[in-house]
Amino acid sequence: MDGPAIKKCINPSCGLTYEIYNDIYRCSCGSLLDIQYSKKPGRDLIERFYQRRNHGGNIYNESGVWRFRDLINFAGIDTENFEECARVLVSLDGSEGRLSKPYNMSKAADYAEMDHGSFLLQPEGYNPSGSFKDNGMSTAVTHAKILGVKKIICASTGNTSASAAMYAANESIECDVYIPKGEIAPGKLGQAFQFGAQVIQVQGNFDDALAASLKKAKESGGYTVNSVNPFRLEGQKTIVYRVLEHLNWNPPDWIVYPGGALGNTSSCGKCLIELFEWGWIKKIPRLAIVNAEGANTFYELYNGQFEDKQLRWNSGRPDLDMVDRYYAQMDKKGVRPKTHATAIQIGRPANISKALRALDFTKGVVLQVSDKEMSDGMSIVGLNGFDCEMASGAVPAGVRKLRKEGLIKLDDVVVGILTGRQKDPGLAVEYHTDPNNMFARPPTSH
Ligand SMILES: [Zn+2]
Repeated sequence: MDGPAIKKCINPSCGLTYEIYNDIYRCSCGSLLDIQYSKKPGRDLIERFYQRRNHGGNIYNESGVWRFRDLINFAGIDTENFEECARVLVSLDGSEGRLSKPYNMSKAADYAEMDHGSFLLQPEGYNPSGSFKDNGMSTAVTHAKILGVKKIICASTGNTSASAAMYAANESIECDVYIPKGEIAPGKLGQAFQFGAQVIQVQGNFDDALAASLKKAKESGGYTVNSVNPFRLEGQKTIVYRVLEHLNWNPPDWIVYPGGALGNTSSCGKCLIELFEWGWIKKIPRLAIVNAEGANTFYELYNGQFEDKQLRWNSGRPDLDMVDRYYAQMDKKGVRPKTHATAIQIGRPANISKALRALDFTKGVVLQVSDKEMSDGMSIVGLNGFDCEMASGAVPAGVRKLRKEGLIKLDDVVVGILTGRQKDPGLAVEYHTDPNNMFARPPTSH
């Protein structure tokens, strides 16, 4: 390849490639695209990443995303020079990923029946817009800027719109956000308005909003920043780089994410496949993806609860007709995703194929937890002095479940990703007001 990167169809029996200077995110065969790099990065970069933590005022070294720019280098940046980086790379003053690293949280470990030392949780809620989305938005908006686009566009359960609107405002570009009316956390809706996005309310759920936004982008030329955009997933790989850096690049036994649109699952999978192929890691962590019971498409398909067949990557030929039949059955029965964890209230995960590839590579598992379990998980994170949203509570709740099932062993090293900050304070108030809840501390009167 001539440039620093290309886009390549993920379907191995197709494998068509595209240059990167366009906003095509789907191959002509219908499959999604990956970013592939012309250079194989050397492991000696590990030292450079450490050195950049003494950033000396360079926001591209301060940023927890761009500090790893050599591993997501579609822009062809090979410099420590601030001005040269600033001409291309989009950053909110170095703040994306800056505060994100894994922490030991002893009370969460007790709840998850894990050893204090081997259970780590990485809060991504301390990103500038309050969720992991900023990792991927900084790269997607960088690509948008390279293309010179005037408007970005997305559908959102709340976190994406907050992040997109924030970066758009900072870069002085337009931003349209499609949201399911009445189904996003009030704090997230407020952010989209406050950052000056054009909010388009869709009657329906996130899946309807995504369909509407993709249609609009196709008709009117907006640049889509949802996770179907492969540049989003490149930025989200840095979540895993920060985990690994904290562990001196010794992979944990497990990495655990909540499952919604499955962008993180896909991104983590691509990250690990690359690091393995580049010879950076020898051991491959297992992925555990935790669905909400009320939005459990991936759980049901992966575990053979539909048509008695387990949906698998199948060497790049997953049975997508079965997925279509599953969706048709959802529509026929009028089943809509329903959970208070609105961030993962998604019935049609857009990245399902890439997520299957990730689980295939990592021998992953998919489980589900109830809203009550997620609330307990969210609350125990709070009792460690960290803040997370209900969807992130799926992580400690899921680990607890896998411990009880014996799949995760006591001495396994487990890293869970807490995807976002609490933007629906009503949920915390409601939880603690009910004395029947596991960790409730009800208010008293004076
Ligand atoms: Zn293709």
